[in-house]
Amino acid sequence: MRGYVKELYDKLSGKYSWEREFLQAVSEVLGSLNPLMEREPRYRKHRVLERLVEPERTIIFRIPWIDDHGGIQVNSGYRVEFNNALGPYKGGMRFHPSVNLSILKFLGFEQIFKNSLTGLSLGGAKGGSDFDPKGKSDNEVMRFCGVLMDELYRHIGPNTDVPAGDIGVGGREIGYLFGRYKKLKNTFEGTLTGKGLGWGGSLIRPEATGYGTVYFASAMLSAHKNSIEGKRVLISGSGNVAQFVAEKILDLGGKPVSFSDSNGSIIDTDGITRAKLSWVMELKNQLRGRISEYSKEFGAKYYEGKRPWGLTEAEIAIPCATQNEIGRDETRALIDNGCICVVEGANMPTEPTAVEMLHDAKVLFGPGKAANAGGVAVSSLEMSQNSMRLSWTREEVDRRLQIIMKDIHTSCLSAARDMGVGDDYVTGANIAGFRKVADAMIDQGVV
Ligand code: GLU
Repeated sequence: MRGYVKELYDKLSGKYSWEREFLQAVSEVLGSLNPLMEREPRYRKHRVLERLVEPERTIIFRIPWIDDHGGIQVNSGYRVEFNNALGPYKGGMRFHPSVNLSILKFLGFEQIFKNSLTGLSLGGAKGGSDFDPKGKSDNEVMRFCGVLMDELYRHIGPNTDVPAGDIGVGGREIGYLFGRYKKLKNTFEGTLTGKGLGWGGSLIRPEATGYGTVYFASAMLSAHKNSIEGKRVLISGSGNVAQFVAEKILDLGGKPVSFSDSNGSIIDTDGITRAKLSWVMELKNQLRGRISEYSKEFGAKYYEGKRPWGLTEAEIAIPCATQNEIGRDETRALIDNGCICVVEGANMPTEPTAVEMLHDAKVLFGPGKAANAGGVAVSSLEMSQNSMRLSWTREEVDRRLQIIMKDIHTSCLSAARDMGVGDDYVTGANIAGFRKVADAMIDQGVV
């Protein structure tokens, strides 16, 4: 960063010094924009960046709810409506004890560019709560979701803001949130995505983030005369994204060799087969168990407290857990173990210095805002189907998802090459995502 962009960043970091994750996400984007700002002064003239780094609206509210023992619990609820230059605010809700305003501002900020890259009509937002669904009964989750929606319903709508899932928010939570929303509004409308298949959900939505990430990885590899076939793939996480990354890797002839959760990682050098994967899906989605149980069931090695990076040789790494899960040491270990490609299934899992190391080592790197955009892209397809009151087939949605991911790949690569930075997908994604939003903001005036 230098000049005008650096000055802007310094001001922002003085103002929000405690928002570490938000500042990290902003610095990654601003770091890519220097050459564009110099080439096209109108962005500076219209103070697009100054406007873009402030959310258009932030809603913070109290969520008091009653647990199964009759005790009163209190959590914080948030919705950060960051930018709606391209369409209604759109982005997931995260339920996790680590949730705070910095995390949601980072996610909302990333979402603006991710949604822009999909080429669909979507603004950027994110929300959630510090509520921890782990260990809670279905009834507790239902009561919590109900009280959250008692406040959120007045801020959202199919043409205003359309929340979806993220960490800790899956089909069960979207069901409870939708039920309460529908009751309060007395309207059946597609205000949330990730809905159940029988009541407005889209086929392939659960699979979309994972499948899309692998389609993106495959496009990156094929642009570099390589493929997924026969490659060993390290996957972190074991939730929705990780599971469907593994499934698509298997479809394309690759070999998934790891999963993890917040307690540790399993490494299965024989490969995670379809049968083992469906066992993991049941363990995680129905029984809500720990990944350590995999090693008891299948005899694979379990590493307590460790992430999978560099624990075994692998050509591809796909982090699908959470932010900042690949640091410098892990990157060194990945490179030493033959990694040629890192693709982010999660949002911002790779620390900035780790990204630099990957670039220096000529390891292909696919940033999350491009690689994992398949989830929100299919959310948008769900919104389209809801508006038309019809449902597309699995094949139709998957076909559209594949086209969208290929197009995102092409936009990133052409923006990077246009800027003279070769195969730097980070710069490519930031510039391609930014341009559309910035141009729309200029067209729409100072609002
Ligand atoms: N939470 C997902 C993401 O990070 C999906 C958002 C959505 O479908 O609105 O993109």
